[in-house]
Amino acid sequence: MVVIPPFGYWKDKNTNEILMIPEAADTVRRIFQLFLDGMTLMPISRILNQETRKTPAQFQMELYGKKKPDIRQFLWSYTSVKNVLQDESYVGVLYNHQDEVRDGKRFRKVPEEEWFRHENVYPPIISREDWEQAQALLQKQRRKRAKSNAPCHRYAGLLSCSNCGAPLVAINRYWNGTCRVEYICKTYMRHGKDTCTSHRIREEKLDTMVWELVSASRESRAEEQNKLAQMQKMWALRKPILDAHILLLQKRIQKLEQEIDGIVMEHIQALSNINLKANGI
Ligand SMILES: [Zn+2]
Repeated sequence: MVVIPPFGYWKDKNTNEILMIPEAADTVRRIFQLFLDGMTLMPISRILNQETRKTPAQFQMELYGKKKPDIRQFLWSYTSVKNVLQDESYVGVLYNHQDEVRDGKRFRKVPEEEWFRHENVYPPIISREDWEQAQALLQKQRRKRAKSNAPCHRYAGLLSCSNCGAPLVAINRYWNGTCRVEYICKTYMRHGKDTCTSHRIREEKLDTMVWELVSASRESRAEEQNKLAQMQKMWALRKPILDAHILLLQKRIQKLEQEIDGIVMEHIQALSNINLKANGI
């Protein structure tokens, strides 16, 4: 019935028995304990990384010789912590018939109400009471998150970390009873200080910077316009004088051209006279 058991368990192929992996079970308990103590998902993942606790991908690699996961899968993240907290396996429950398979391929995802639920399949790691409390807390955080995201963060998608190139994401920081928005490197936020530095910038500071930039460019534009107007005025004053000068020069050019023509004609005349004489005409 169970092909690959969830994180925290392994299946003895000889007896088909599902057994607990003490090291992984300890990590599951740690996650629930920190979460029920009021810590949010991201800080929990940081603690797990600091404690160098193995991730689900690492256990899979060790147990089933699955291909080496990429380096990020050696680190706990928001998502992997959340997956553990939502997994009902830790109170013993197994769901199957989550997918319908036809011809060996996944045919469709089955709606949750049609899943088959089996109790007491896995040796429980967490008490039912703690698990329920964790689900309620997750629900509460989900609502809060959706609400706080309602007004879109105005610099979202525009900033990136100068160290690792990852986007900067907006987070709410509560300080001295006030809430302010900060943008922080996504890599750092996900995986902690071993992966990138804590580049962060306050939204207010960005507002000030943008305002200063706009003001400065407005001022310099006004200055340029002023200069241009002055130049126009100056040239307008000089225009009649220069026009007269141009006219004078044009007349002079005309006169010189006529002179050139005359000289050329004289030369041609002289040359033809010489030729006539040479031919004895
Ligand atoms: Zn970074």
